[in-house]
Amino acid sequence: DERIAQIQEQLKSYPNFPKKGILFWDIFSILNKPDYYRLLRDILVEEAKKISPPIECVAGLEARGFLFGPLISLELNVPFVPIRKKGKLPGNLLSVCYSKEYGPDVLEIQEGSIEHGKRVLIIDDLLATGGTMVAGCHLIKKAGANVAACLVVIELEGLKGRDAVPDNVISLIKL
Ligand code: 5GP
Repeated sequence: DERIAQIQEQLKSYPNFPKKGILFWDIFSILNKPDYYRLLRDILVEEAKKISPPIECVAGLEARGFLFGPLISLELNVPFVPIRKKGKLPGNLLSVCYSKEYGPDVLEIQEGSIEHGKRVLIIDDLLATGGTMVAGCHLIKKAGANVAACLVVIELEGLKGRDAVPDNVISLIKL
C-alpha cells in the first residue's frame, strides 16, 4: 500500500532511548503532520471495518493507543474503552499482571465498561515483545468479552511479539 509507505517515510527513530541499546520509534513524528495523521486514521478505520463479524468495541492501551482508538470508535460508532496502568482508573476494576523489562506491571479496565460477549478491537501504537498486548487480551477476556483482533501501527517483527499474542494481530508498518 503506497499510503503506508508514505506514512513510514515520516517516521522518526531515536537510538538509545529510553535507554542504551533501544531504538525508539516516535509515533508523534506522524501526528505532528495533520495530512499524515489523517491518512493513518483513514487506514486504521479501513482495517477496523474489514474485520468480520463487525467489531462492537474499541479498547485502547495506555498511552499511545488513546491517540488512535477514539478515532476508530467514532467512525464505527462503537464505544471506546481505556486500558490503563495501575492506579489511573476510578471505580471497580479488573486487573492483569504482566512482566516488563524492569519487573512486573499491572493493566486495569473498569468493571462493566465492556458488555459481556462483545467483539473487541484492541489498539496500540507499536508491538514489540507483545507483553503489553498479551496482557490486554487477557484483560478483555477477564471482562467476559472477546478479542476480535489486535491492531497496531508498527510491528517490530524481529521481536516476534505476534507469536506471543493469543489473538489475531493486524499491523500496518512492519519494521
Ligand atoms: P511490548 O509490550 O510489545 O514489548 O512493548 C509495546 C509497548 O511499549 C507499547 O505500549 C508501545 O507503546 C511501547 N513501546 C515499546 N517500544 C516502543 C517504541 O519504539 N516506540 C513507541 N512509540 N512505543 C514503544
